[in-house]
Amino acid sequence: MQRIHLPDEVRTIIETLEKRGYEAYAVGGCVRDSVLGKTPKDWDITTSAKPEEVKAVFPRCIDTGIQHGTVTVMLNGTGYEVTTFRVDGSYSDGRHPDSVSFTGLLSEDLKRRDFTINAMAYNERSGITDLFGGIRDLERGLVRAVGNPAERFTEDALRILRLVRFSARLDFDMEEETFRAARALSPRLFLVSAERIRDEWMKTLLSDHPEKILLFEELGALRIFFPELSEALSGGKSPDPILRLSSFPADGVPRLAAVFDFIRQEGKLSAASAKTLADRRLRALKYDNHTRETVCFLMAFSDRSLPASPKELRSLLSETGKDGFPLLLSFRRLLAEEETDFDAAERCFQGVLDRQECTSVRELAVNGNDLLSCGVKPGKELGKILKALLLAVLEDPGLNTKEALLTRAAELRADS
Ligand code: ATP
Ligand code: MG
Repeated sequence: MQRIHLPDEVRTIIETLEKRGYEAYAVGGCVRDSVLGKTPKDWDITTSAKPEEVKAVFPRCIDTGIQHGTVTVMLNGTGYEVTTFRVDGSYSDGRHPDSVSFTGLLSEDLKRRDFTINAMAYNERSGITDLFGGIRDLERGLVRAVGNPAERFTEDALRILRLVRFSARLDFDMEEETFRAARALSPRLFLVSAERIRDEWMKTLLSDHPEKILLFEELGALRIFFPELSEALSGGKSPDPILRLSSFPADGVPRLAAVFDFIRQEGKLSAASAKTLADRRLRALKYDNHTRETVCFLMAFSDRSLPASPKELRSLLSETGKDGFPLLLSFRRLLAEEETDFDAAERCFQGVLDRQECTSVRELAVNGNDLLSCGVKPGKELGKILKALLLAVLEDPGLNTKEALLTRAAELRADS
């Protein structure tokens, strides 16, 4: 009998339930990862005990999803999700079961799970329960739907994206019939919420095989949630920037920005259009503001070269800000196909910082009040003069003294 090493807490929960006459097993992702020799992220437990019965056995519980039969058992500071054996009712909306009901049979619970590799249970009494050939699929490197794939994807279209996610995470192939059903049913993804789509897309993009986002296109899914990328891929030539994504850190911003940069290059878009496009798509997919704004920032400057002369660099910094520039620099390093020398730009940037050169109105040696007390009119004139002073200082940092700037301001007023 194949043994899996269970953490003490998981063994305790299972044995405690067994002593009360219930069945209990570790189930799903933790069994899959253990068989693969990987350390599971978390341990889920499935049991014949009803939620109220689980709560009666363990003193410290949190109701996490009682309507779905899930109770979180707290043990030594960690929570373990314990879910009652469950069958899902019909899925009339292609998203959620209309009802869930409890069952006394492990086999029923395993049958409702998405893929064979996710549908195995384990405890020390019975060893691995593998009713659908999950072990064999793990050995062959295949993601295969449990039961009839077309029915399973019709019930819940999110599984189409989960298929890609697990293919990417494990570097597995999609089983042929599962693949064909997913491709046929991908139009049903319109039923799935933007947030859930985004989460599966990100898990794929942040996996060790981010290039597998190409599978979304093969399945016809991109058309639905990321049409601009679908179009950029339709040219038929090798999408090299996508194939290089695995060399990027597993961080959302640079990987997303690289995808938008690919779209920009393929569509020969201006930086401004690429920024607008990224903003629209990231809003539609309900990204957080920080991610959206940082990606849009990188796109807005995507057509600029990074100067190695202090004067040009100061001018760029007046637009990116001193905080923004390092982001742009590191993104360019990641994007560069061949050895490109960014060290000169970096040294130049360091010089501007070391000399504390002014690159924004905020850093000018005069402020609005100084100018107002010299008779500058508030509003338009003030704005114009501050801007002109900044331009002069970007050109010649030596000018950034109160005296020199007030003199210059007086000259500007006399000229206008
Ligand atoms: P991860 O390590 O990413 O958490 P996981 O296998 O634990 O992987 P979860 O999304 O946490 O994946 O889901 C836990 C288990 O619940 C899965 O292994 C699977 O058995 C089942 N499951 C989750 N979502 C679905 C779904 N949409 N349809 C059917 N079964 C599902
Ligand atoms: Mg999980």
